[in-house]
Amino acid sequence: MKANIGLIGLAVMGQNLVLNINDNGFKVAVYNRTTEKTDEFLTGPAKGTEIVGTYSIEDLVQKLETPRIVMLMVKAGTVVDHYIEQLVLLLDAGDIIIDGGNSLFTDTDRRTKALKEKGLLYIGTGVSGGEEGARHGPSIMPGGHPDAWNRVKPVLQAISAKVDGQPCCEWVGYGGAGHYVKMIHNGIEYGDMQIICEAYQLMSEGLGLSADEISSIFAEWNSAELSSYLVEITANILAYKDEDGSPLLDKILDTAGQKGTGKWTGINALDLGIPLTLIGESVFARCLSAMKDERINASQKLPKPVNRFEGNRQEALETIRNALYASKIISYAQGFRLMREAAKEYGWTLNYGKIALMWRGGCIIRSAFLNDIKQAYDSNPDLENLLLADFFVDAMRQAEPGWRKAVILSIELGIPAPAFSSALAFYDGYRTARLPANLLQAQRDYFGAHSYERTDRPRGEFFHTDWTGHG
Ligand code: NAP
Repeated sequence: MKANIGLIGLAVMGQNLVLNINDNGFKVAVYNRTTEKTDEFLTGPAKGTEIVGTYSIEDLVQKLETPRIVMLMVKAGTVVDHYIEQLVLLLDAGDIIIDGGNSLFTDTDRRTKALKEKGLLYIGTGVSGGEEGARHGPSIMPGGHPDAWNRVKPVLQAISAKVDGQPCCEWVGYGGAGHYVKMIHNGIEYGDMQIICEAYQLMSEGLGLSADEISSIFAEWNSAELSSYLVEITANILAYKDEDGSPLLDKILDTAGQKGTGKWTGINALDLGIPLTLIGESVFARCLSAMKDERINASQKLPKPVNRFEGNRQEALETIRNALYASKIISYAQGFRLMREAAKEYGWTLNYGKIALMWRGGCIIRSAFLNDIKQAYDSNPDLENLLLADFFVDAMRQAEPGWRKAVILSIELGIPAPAFSSALAFYDGYRTARLPANLLQAQRDYFGAHSYERTDRPRGEFFHTDWTGHG
Protein backbone atom coordinates (compact mmCIF):
# COMPACT_ATOMS: atom_id res chain seq x y z
CA MET A 1 0.00 0.00 0.00
CA LYS A 2 1.35 3.40 -0.95
CA ALA A 3 1.76 6.19 1.60
CA ASN A 4 -0.78 9.02 1.73
CA ILE A 5 1.84 11.66 2.39
CA GLY A 6 5.62 12.03 2.35
CA LEU A 7 7.56 14.17 4.82
CA ILE A 8 11.09 15.48 4.41
CA GLY A 9 12.96 16.67 7.51
CA LEU A 10 13.14 14.59 10.65
CA ALA A 11 14.21 17.20 13.19
CA VAL A 12 12.04 17.92 16.22
CA MET A 13 9.06 19.34 14.30
CA GLY A 14 9.12 16.78 11.49
CA GLN A 15 9.33 13.75 13.76
CA ASN A 16 6.44 14.88 15.92
CA LEU A 17 4.26 15.85 12.97
CA VAL A 18 4.87 12.45 11.37
CA LEU A 19 3.81 10.65 14.56
CA ASN A 20 0.73 12.89 14.76
CA ILE A 21 -0.21 12.19 11.11
CA ASN A 22 0.30 8.46 11.70
CA ASP A 23 -1.91 8.56 14.83
CA ASN A 24 -4.66 10.08 12.71
CA GLY A 25 -4.74 7.08 10.38
CA PHE A 26 -2.68 8.36 7.45
CA LYS A 27 0.26 6.40 6.12
CA VAL A 28 3.47 8.47 6.03
CA ALA A 29 6.76 7.95 4.20
CA VAL A 30 9.74 9.90 5.55
CA TYR A 31 13.13 11.12 4.33
CA ASN A 32 15.95 13.00 6.05
CA ARG A 33 19.28 14.16 4.61
CA THR A 34 21.23 12.60 7.47
CA THR A 35 20.15 8.99 7.18
CA GLU A 36 21.22 8.06 10.72
CA LYS A 37 18.39 10.28 11.97
CA THR A 38 15.94 8.33 9.82
CA ASP A 39 17.18 5.05 11.33
CA GLU A 40 17.07 6.44 14.87
CA PHE A 41 13.52 7.64 14.28
CA LEU A 42 12.32 4.35 12.81
CA THR A 43 13.87 2.25 15.53
CA GLY A 44 12.95 4.75 18.28
CA PRO A 45 9.81 6.90 18.41
CA ALA A 46 8.33 5.40 15.22
CA LYS A 47 8.89 1.76 16.22
CA GLY A 48 5.74 -0.32 15.83
CA THR A 49 4.04 2.23 13.55
CA GLU A 50 3.32 1.96 9.81
CA ILE A 51 5.70 4.84 9.03
CA VAL A 52 7.91 4.03 6.03
CA GLY A 53 11.55 5.09 5.91
CA THR A 54 13.22 6.09 2.63
CA TYR A 55 16.81 6.98 1.85
CA SER A 56 16.51 9.06 -1.31
CA ILE A 57 14.06 11.62 -2.61
CA GLU A 58 13.39 9.32 -5.60
CA ASP A 59 12.44 6.47 -3.28
CA LEU A 60 10.24 8.78 -1.20
CA VAL A 61 8.34 9.95 -4.29
CA GLN A 62 7.90 6.38 -5.55
CA LYS A 63 6.34 5.33 -2.25
CA LEU A 64 3.51 7.90 -2.50
CA GLU A 65 -0.01 7.47 -3.84
CA THR A 66 -0.92 9.86 -6.66
CA PRO A 67 -1.57 12.72 -6.84
CA ARG A 68 1.30 12.99 -4.39
CA ILE A 69 1.62 15.17 -1.29
CA VAL A 70 5.14 15.94 -0.03
CA MET A 71 5.59 18.03 3.09
CA LEU A 72 8.86 19.82 3.88
CA MET A 73 9.71 20.35 7.55
CA VAL A 74 13.23 21.69 7.09
CA LYS A 75 15.28 24.76 7.87
CA ALA A 76 13.74 27.79 6.18
CA GLY A 77 15.58 29.53 3.34
CA THR A 78 17.71 27.97 0.61
CA VAL A 79 17.20 24.44 1.98
CA VAL A 80 13.54 24.66 0.94
CA ASP A 81 14.53 25.73 -2.59
CA HIS A 82 17.09 22.92 -2.70
CA TYR A 83 14.40 20.29 -2.00
CA ILE A 84 11.89 21.92 -4.35
CA GLU A 85 14.46 21.78 -7.17
CA GLN A 86 14.83 18.01 -6.63
CA LEU A 87 11.10 17.39 -6.26
CA VAL A 88 10.21 19.29 -9.42
CA LEU A 89 12.17 16.72 -11.44
CA LEU A 90 10.23 13.83 -9.89
CA LEU A 91 6.68 15.06 -9.39
CA ASP A 92 3.82 15.23 -11.92
CA ALA A 93 1.30 17.96 -12.63
CA GLY A 94 -1.31 18.11 -9.89
CA ASP A 95 1.08 16.91 -7.16
CA ILE A 96 1.35 19.01 -4.03
CA ILE A 97 4.33 20.34 -2.08
CA ILE A 98 3.69 21.71 1.42
CA ASP A 99 6.30 23.79 3.21
CA GLY A 100 5.52 23.65 6.94
CA GLY A 101 8.61 25.55 8.12
CA ASN A 102 8.92 29.20 9.08
CA SER A 103 9.53 30.50 5.57
CA LEU A 104 9.42 34.17 4.70
CA PHE A 105 6.06 34.87 3.05
CA THR A 106 7.63 36.52 0.02
CA ASP A 107 9.61 33.32 -0.63
CA THR A 108 6.37 31.32 -0.42
CA ASP A 109 4.71 33.74 -2.81
CA ARG A 110 7.56 33.31 -5.28
CA ARG A 111 7.52 29.51 -4.95
CA THR A 112 3.73 29.27 -5.33
CA LYS A 113 3.90 31.23 -8.58
CA ALA A 114 6.93 29.39 -9.97
CA LEU A 115 5.47 25.95 -9.23
CA LYS A 116 2.07 26.90 -10.62
CA GLU A 117 3.79 27.40 -13.97
CA LYS A 118 5.01 23.81 -13.74
CA GLY A 119 1.53 22.51 -12.88
CA LEU A 120 2.46 21.80 -9.26
CA LEU A 121 0.34 22.98 -6.36
CA TYR A 122 2.30 24.66 -3.59
CA ILE A 123 1.21 25.31 -0.02
CA GLY A 124 3.15 27.36 2.51
CA THR A 125 1.78 26.75 5.95
CA GLY A 126 2.54 28.10 9.37
CA VAL A 127 2.73 25.39 12.03
CA SER A 128 2.77 26.65 15.59
CA GLY A 129 2.97 24.95 18.96
CA GLY A 130 6.56 23.73 19.09
CA GLU A 131 7.35 20.10 19.73
CA GLU A 132 4.32 19.44 21.92
CA GLY A 133 1.94 21.07 19.45
CA ALA A 134 3.40 19.18 16.49
CA ARG A 135 2.93 15.89 18.34
CA HIS A 136 -0.58 16.40 19.74
CA GLY A 137 -2.20 19.14 17.67
CA PRO A 138 -0.63 22.36 16.40
CA SER A 139 -2.24 25.47 15.05
CA ILE A 140 -1.89 25.26 11.26
CA MET A 141 -2.15 28.27 8.93
CA PRO A 142 -2.09 27.13 5.28
CA GLY A 143 -1.96 29.36 2.22
CA GLY A 144 -0.73 28.99 -1.34
CA HIS A 145 -2.44 27.46 -4.36
CA PRO A 146 -6.16 27.19 -3.46
CA ASP A 147 -6.68 24.06 -5.64
CA ALA A 148 -4.52 22.14 -3.18
CA TRP A 149 -6.65 22.94 -0.14
CA ASN A 150 -9.38 20.32 -0.58
CA ARG A 151 -6.77 17.59 -0.97
CA VAL A 152 -4.69 18.47 2.09
CA LYS A 153 -7.59 19.65 4.27
CA PRO A 154 -8.46 16.19 5.70
CA VAL A 155 -4.87 15.60 6.82
CA LEU A 156 -4.10 19.09 8.13
CA GLN A 157 -7.40 19.52 9.97
CA ALA A 158 -7.15 16.02 11.46
CA ILE A 159 -3.71 16.67 12.97
CA SER A 160 -4.44 20.22 14.14
CA ALA A 161 -5.51 21.28 17.62
CA LYS A 162 -9.28 21.48 18.24
CA VAL A 163 -11.12 24.02 20.33
CA ASP A 164 -14.81 23.39 21.01
CA GLY A 165 -14.63 20.69 18.34
CA GLN A 166 -13.36 23.10 15.68
CA PRO A 167 -9.96 22.56 14.06
CA CYS A 168 -7.35 25.28 14.54
CA CYS A 169 -6.59 25.06 10.83
CA GLU A 170 -8.31 26.98 8.05
CA TRP A 171 -7.37 28.13 4.58
CA VAL A 172 -5.78 31.58 4.86
CA GLY A 173 -5.33 32.78 1.30
CA TYR A 174 -3.32 32.82 -1.91
CA GLY A 175 0.49 32.65 -2.15
CA GLY A 176 2.33 33.63 0.99
CA ALA A 177 -0.81 34.41 3.05
CA GLY A 178 -0.41 31.42 5.38
CA HIS A 179 3.21 32.15 6.14
CA TYR A 180 2.37 35.83 6.52
CA VAL A 181 -0.22 35.05 9.20
CA LYS A 182 2.30 32.74 10.90
CA MET A 183 4.84 35.58 10.84
CA ILE A 184 2.35 37.89 12.55
CA HIS A 185 1.61 35.11 15.05
CA ASN A 186 5.32 34.90 15.85
CA GLY A 187 5.59 38.67 16.18
CA ILE A 188 2.68 38.65 18.60
CA GLU A 189 4.41 35.82 20.47
CA TYR A 190 7.49 38.08 20.87
CA GLY A 191 5.18 40.81 22.26
CA ASP A 192 3.35 38.51 24.67
CA MET A 193 6.64 37.17 26.02
CA GLN A 194 8.13 40.64 26.43
CA ILE A 195 5.18 42.09 28.37
CA ILE A 196 5.18 39.09 30.71
CA CYS A 197 8.91 39.66 31.27
CA GLU A 198 8.29 43.33 32.07
CA ALA A 199 5.61 42.38 34.61
CA TYR A 200 8.04 39.89 36.14
CA GLN A 201 10.86 42.43 36.45
CA LEU A 202 8.57 45.05 38.00
CA MET A 203 7.38 42.49 40.55
CA SER A 204 10.80 41.08 41.36
CA GLU A 205 13.03 44.17 41.24
CA GLY A 206 10.40 46.81 41.83
CA LEU A 207 8.20 45.24 44.49
CA GLY A 208 10.85 42.86 45.83
CA LEU A 209 8.70 39.73 45.44
CA SER A 210 10.23 36.25 45.44
CA ALA A 211 10.03 33.84 42.52
CA ASP A 212 7.48 31.74 44.43
CA GLU A 213 5.33 34.79 45.13
CA ILE A 214 5.46 35.88 41.49
CA SER A 215 4.66 32.34 40.38
CA SER A 216 1.49 32.40 42.51
CA ILE A 217 0.50 35.77 41.11
CA PHE A 218 0.87 34.58 37.51
CA ALA A 219 -1.05 31.41 38.38
CA GLU A 220 -3.85 33.57 39.79
CA TRP A 221 -3.82 35.86 36.73
CA ASN A 222 -4.06 32.78 34.57
CA SER A 223 -7.58 32.16 35.84
CA ALA A 224 -9.05 35.41 34.49
CA GLU A 225 -8.74 37.64 31.40
CA LEU A 226 -4.99 36.98 31.09
CA SER A 227 -5.49 33.22 30.93
CA SER A 228 -3.01 31.92 28.36
CA TYR A 229 -0.40 29.27 27.71
CA LEU A 230 2.46 31.75 28.14
CA VAL A 231 1.21 33.03 31.51
CA GLU A 232 0.67 29.43 32.62
CA ILE A 233 4.20 28.31 31.71
CA THR A 234 5.64 31.47 33.27
CA ALA A 235 4.06 30.51 36.62
CA ASN A 236 5.59 27.02 36.23
CA ILE A 237 9.02 28.38 35.29
CA LEU A 238 9.09 30.67 38.35
CA ALA A 239 8.20 27.76 40.63
CA TYR A 240 10.87 25.45 39.19
CA LYS A 241 13.78 24.77 41.55
CA ASP A 242 17.36 23.90 40.69
CA GLU A 243 19.09 21.01 42.45
CA ASP A 244 20.11 23.28 45.34
CA GLY A 245 16.47 24.27 45.91
CA SER A 246 16.81 27.82 44.55
CA PRO A 247 14.79 29.05 41.53
CA LEU A 248 16.45 27.84 38.32
CA LEU A 249 15.28 31.04 36.63
CA ASP A 250 17.67 33.12 38.75
CA LYS A 251 20.60 31.23 37.25
CA ILE A 252 19.65 31.67 33.59
CA LEU A 253 21.77 34.16 31.66
CA ASP A 254 19.74 37.21 30.63
CA THR A 255 20.59 37.25 26.92
CA ALA A 256 17.67 36.46 24.62
CA GLY A 257 17.99 34.59 21.34
CA GLN A 258 15.84 35.06 18.27
CA LYS A 259 15.42 33.36 14.93
CA GLY A 260 14.14 36.32 12.93
CA THR A 261 10.37 36.06 12.54
CA GLY A 262 9.81 38.97 14.98
CA LYS A 263 12.27 41.05 12.98
CA TRP A 264 10.47 40.15 9.73
CA THR A 265 7.19 41.31 11.27
CA GLY A 266 8.76 44.64 12.25
CA ILE A 267 10.31 45.12 8.83
CA ASN A 268 6.98 44.39 7.14
CA ALA A 269 5.24 46.92 9.41
CA LEU A 270 7.80 49.55 8.37
CA ASP A 271 7.33 48.58 4.70
CA LEU A 272 3.55 48.98 4.97
CA GLY A 273 3.69 52.09 7.18
CA ILE A 274 1.75 50.60 10.08
CA PRO A 275 2.78 51.36 13.68
CA LEU A 276 3.67 48.03 15.27
CA THR A 277 5.41 49.55 18.24
CA LEU A 278 4.97 46.82 20.80
CA ILE A 279 6.38 44.02 18.65
CA GLY A 280 9.14 46.35 17.46
CA GLU A 281 10.10 47.13 21.07
CA SER A 282 10.02 43.42 21.87
CA VAL A 283 12.53 42.67 19.13
CA PHE A 284 14.77 45.54 20.26
CA ALA A 285 14.46 44.41 23.91
CA ARG A 286 15.92 41.03 22.84
CA CYS A 287 18.71 42.86 20.96
CA LEU A 288 19.47 44.99 24.04
CA SER A 289 19.51 41.91 26.26
CA ALA A 290 22.10 40.34 23.96
CA MET A 291 24.49 43.30 24.57
CA LYS A 292 25.39 41.78 27.93
CA ASP A 293 29.02 42.93 28.30
CA GLU A 294 28.18 46.45 27.20
CA ARG A 295 25.27 46.55 29.67
CA ILE A 296 27.49 45.38 32.54
CA ASN A 297 29.93 48.14 31.71
CA ALA A 298 27.14 50.73 31.44
CA SER A 299 25.60 49.58 34.73
CA GLN A 300 28.82 50.62 36.45
CA LYS A 301 29.03 54.02 34.76
CA LEU A 302 25.43 55.17 34.41
CA PRO A 303 23.74 55.27 37.82
CA LYS A 304 20.18 54.10 38.35
CA PRO A 305 17.63 56.21 40.26
CA VAL A 306 17.88 55.45 43.97
CA ASN A 307 14.09 55.48 44.44
CA ARG A 308 12.59 52.52 46.25
CA PHE A 309 9.04 51.29 46.12
CA GLU A 310 7.16 52.50 49.16
CA GLY A 311 3.53 52.15 48.12
CA ASN A 312 0.89 49.48 48.64
CA ARG A 313 2.06 46.24 47.06
CA GLN A 314 -1.41 44.88 46.41
CA GLU A 315 -2.41 48.05 44.59
CA ALA A 316 0.83 48.05 42.62
CA LEU A 317 0.23 44.44 41.57
CA GLU A 318 -3.17 45.40 40.26
CA THR A 319 -1.59 48.18 38.16
CA ILE A 320 0.93 45.71 36.71
CA ARG A 321 -1.92 43.35 35.84
CA ASN A 322 -3.69 46.26 34.12
CA ALA A 323 -0.50 47.14 32.23
CA LEU A 324 -0.11 43.56 31.05
CA TYR A 325 -3.69 43.31 29.83
CA ALA A 326 -3.83 46.74 28.17
CA SER A 327 -0.46 46.23 26.47
CA LYS A 328 -1.60 42.85 25.20
CA ILE A 329 -4.69 44.45 23.67
CA ILE A 330 -2.49 47.09 21.99
CA SER A 331 -0.18 44.40 20.62
CA TYR A 332 -3.01 42.38 19.06
CA ALA A 333 -4.73 45.52 17.79
CA GLN A 334 -1.46 46.52 16.07
CA GLY A 335 -0.89 42.99 14.70
CA PHE A 336 -4.41 42.67 13.29
CA ARG A 337 -4.21 46.18 11.88
CA LEU A 338 -1.02 45.19 10.07
CA MET A 339 -2.74 42.09 8.65
CA ARG A 340 -5.55 44.32 7.40
CA GLU A 341 -3.07 46.51 5.58
CA ALA A 342 -1.24 43.48 4.20
CA ALA A 343 -4.50 42.04 2.85
CA LYS A 344 -5.01 45.30 0.96
CA GLU A 345 -1.42 45.48 -0.24
CA TYR A 346 -1.05 41.84 -1.34
CA GLY A 347 -4.62 41.25 -2.55
CA TRP A 348 -5.68 38.71 0.11
CA THR A 349 -9.09 38.28 1.69
CA LEU A 350 -8.16 37.52 5.27
CA ASN A 351 -10.81 36.35 7.71
CA TYR A 352 -9.69 37.86 11.01
CA GLY A 353 -12.24 35.97 13.13
CA LYS A 354 -11.01 32.67 11.67
CA ILE A 355 -7.40 33.68 12.26
CA ALA A 356 -8.20 34.37 15.94
CA LEU A 357 -9.94 30.98 16.04
CA MET A 358 -6.88 29.23 14.58
CA TRP A 359 -4.70 30.76 17.29
CA ARG A 360 -7.05 29.76 20.12
CA GLY A 361 -5.60 26.27 20.41
CA GLY A 362 -2.36 24.43 19.76
CA CYS A 363 -0.08 27.43 19.43
CA ILE A 364 2.18 29.35 21.77
CA ILE A 365 -0.07 32.43 21.92
CA ARG A 366 -3.24 30.43 22.67
CA SER A 367 -5.40 32.26 25.17
CA ALA A 368 -8.92 32.94 26.31
CA PHE A 369 -8.46 36.47 24.99
CA LEU A 370 -8.57 35.25 21.37
CA ASN A 371 -12.25 34.41 21.91
CA ASP A 372 -12.89 38.09 22.58
CA ILE A 373 -11.09 38.98 19.35
CA LYS A 374 -13.07 36.36 17.43
CA GLN A 375 -16.31 37.77 18.80
CA ALA A 376 -15.30 41.33 17.92
CA TYR A 377 -14.74 40.28 14.29
CA ASP A 378 -17.87 38.13 14.24
CA SER A 379 -19.92 41.18 15.24
CA ASN A 380 -18.17 43.35 12.68
CA PRO A 381 -16.00 41.63 10.04
CA ASP A 382 -14.99 45.05 8.67
CA LEU A 383 -13.76 46.34 12.02
CA GLU A 384 -11.07 48.90 11.26
CA ASN A 385 -9.19 48.37 14.50
CA LEU A 386 -9.74 46.07 17.48
CA LEU A 387 -9.40 49.08 19.79
CA LEU A 388 -12.67 50.38 18.37
CA ALA A 389 -14.70 47.27 19.26
CA ASP A 390 -17.05 47.91 22.20
CA PHE A 391 -15.53 45.10 24.26
CA PHE A 392 -12.01 46.53 23.94
CA VAL A 393 -13.12 50.15 24.42
CA ASP A 394 -14.50 49.05 27.82
CA ALA A 395 -11.46 46.93 28.62
CA MET A 396 -9.07 49.81 27.88
CA ARG A 397 -11.17 52.24 29.90
CA GLN A 398 -10.92 49.96 32.91
CA ALA A 399 -7.23 49.10 32.54
CA GLU A 400 -5.88 52.52 31.59
CA PRO A 401 -5.49 54.21 35.01
CA GLY A 402 -3.58 51.26 36.45
CA TRP A 403 -1.51 50.80 33.29
CA ARG A 404 -0.41 54.45 33.47
CA LYS A 405 0.56 54.02 37.14
CA ALA A 406 2.59 50.90 36.35
CA VAL A 407 4.51 52.82 33.66
CA ILE A 408 5.11 55.70 36.09
CA LEU A 409 6.37 53.17 38.65
CA SER A 410 8.81 51.71 36.13
CA ILE A 411 10.08 55.20 35.27
CA GLU A 412 10.49 56.18 38.92
CA LEU A 413 12.35 53.01 39.78
CA GLY A 414 14.46 53.00 36.61
CA ILE A 415 13.18 49.57 35.61
CA PRO A 416 12.82 49.25 31.84
CA ALA A 417 9.32 48.59 30.59
CA PRO A 418 9.70 49.42 26.89
CA ALA A 419 6.66 47.49 25.71
CA PHE A 420 4.31 48.74 28.46
CA SER A 421 5.40 52.33 27.92
CA SER A 422 5.57 52.39 24.15
CA ALA A 423 2.13 50.74 24.00
CA LEU A 424 0.80 53.52 26.22
CA ALA A 425 2.44 56.17 24.03
CA PHE A 426 0.84 54.54 20.97
CA TYR A 427 -2.55 54.49 22.71
CA ASP A 428 -2.27 58.16 23.63
CA GLY A 429 -1.31 58.97 20.04
CA TYR A 430 -4.00 56.79 18.48
CA ARG A 431 -6.77 58.51 20.36
CA THR A 432 -5.42 62.02 19.77
CA ALA A 433 -7.34 63.88 17.08
CA ARG A 434 -4.58 66.44 16.51
CA LEU A 435 -0.93 65.41 16.73
CA PRO A 436 2.09 67.71 16.43
CA ALA A 437 2.58 66.61 12.82
CA ASN A 438 1.46 70.11 11.80
CA LEU A 439 4.87 71.29 13.01
CA LEU A 440 6.54 68.34 11.34
CA GLN A 441 4.97 69.24 8.00
CA ALA A 442 6.06 72.85 8.47
CA GLN A 443 9.63 71.69 9.15
CA ARG A 444 9.59 69.50 6.04
CA ASP A 445 8.28 72.38 3.99
CA TYR A 446 10.84 74.78 5.52
CA PHE A 447 13.94 72.76 4.65
CA GLY A 448 12.75 70.73 1.68
CA ALA A 449 9.77 72.52 0.14
CA HIS A 450 7.75 69.33 0.69
CA SER A 451 4.51 71.34 0.97
CA TYR A 452 1.62 70.91 3.39
CA GLU A 453 -2.16 70.81 3.51
CA ARG A 454 -4.17 73.38 5.49
CA THR A 455 -6.95 72.72 8.01
CA ASP A 456 -8.97 75.59 6.50
CA ARG A 457 -8.77 74.26 2.94
CA PRO A 458 -9.95 70.99 1.32
CA ARG A 459 -7.70 67.90 1.67
CA GLY A 460 -5.54 67.32 -1.38
CA GLU A 461 -4.67 71.01 -1.90
CA PHE A 462 -0.99 71.54 -1.18
CA PHE A 463 0.80 74.75 -0.16
CA HIS A 464 4.36 75.87 0.11
CA THR A 465 5.64 78.79 2.14
CA ASP A 466 8.89 80.70 1.81
CA TRP A 467 9.60 80.45 5.55
CA THR A 468 12.67 82.66 5.47
CA GLY A 469 10.90 85.38 3.56
CA HIS A 470 8.28 87.58 5.17
CA GLY A 471 5.98 86.65 8.07
P1 NAP B 1 15.41 22.80 11.94
O1 NAP B 1 16.53 22.70 12.91
O2 NAP B 1 14.90 24.13 11.60
O3 NAP B 1 15.82 22.05 10.57
C1 NAP B 1 16.40 20.78 10.62
C2 NAP B 1 16.00 19.97 9.40
O4 NAP B 1 16.44 20.64 8.20
C3 NAP B 1 16.68 18.61 9.40
O5 NAP B 1 15.84 17.69 8.79
C4 NAP B 1 17.92 18.89 8.58
O6 NAP B 1 18.48 17.73 8.03
C5 NAP B 1 17.35 19.77 7.50
N1 NAP B 1 18.42 20.54 6.91
C6 NAP B 1 19.11 21.58 7.45
N2 NAP B 1 20.04 22.03 6.60
C7 NAP B 1 19.94 21.26 5.48
C8 NAP B 1 20.63 21.24 4.25
N3 NAP B 1 21.59 22.13 3.97
N4 NAP B 1 20.26 20.33 3.33
C9 NAP B 1 19.29 19.44 3.59
N5 NAP B 1 18.60 19.39 4.74
C10 NAP B 1 18.93 20.30 5.68
O7 NAP B 1 14.22 21.82 12.44
P2 NAP B 1 12.92 22.10 13.30
O8 NAP B 1 13.23 22.85 14.54
O9 NAP B 1 12.22 20.80 13.39
O10 NAP B 1 12.06 23.08 12.37
C11 NAP B 1 11.64 22.74 11.07
C12 NAP B 1 10.95 23.96 10.48
O11 NAP B 1 9.81 24.29 11.31
C13 NAP B 1 11.82 25.21 10.46
O12 NAP B 1 11.50 25.99 9.34
C14 NAP B 1 11.43 25.95 11.73
O13 NAP B 1 11.65 27.33 11.65
C15 NAP B 1 9.94 25.61 11.80
N6 NAP B 1 9.35 25.63 13.14
C16 NAP B 1 10.07 25.20 14.22
C17 NAP B 1 9.47 25.21 15.48
C18 NAP B 1 10.21 24.70 16.69
O14 NAP B 1 9.67 24.86 17.80
N7 NAP B 1 11.36 24.08 16.53
C19 NAP B 1 8.16 25.66 15.62
C20 NAP B 1 7.45 26.07 14.50
C21 NAP B 1 8.06 26.05 13.26
P3 NAP B 1 19.71 17.02 8.76
O15 NAP B 1 19.12 16.20 9.86
O16 NAP B 1 20.33 16.20 7.71
O17 NAP B 1 20.62 18.09 9.29
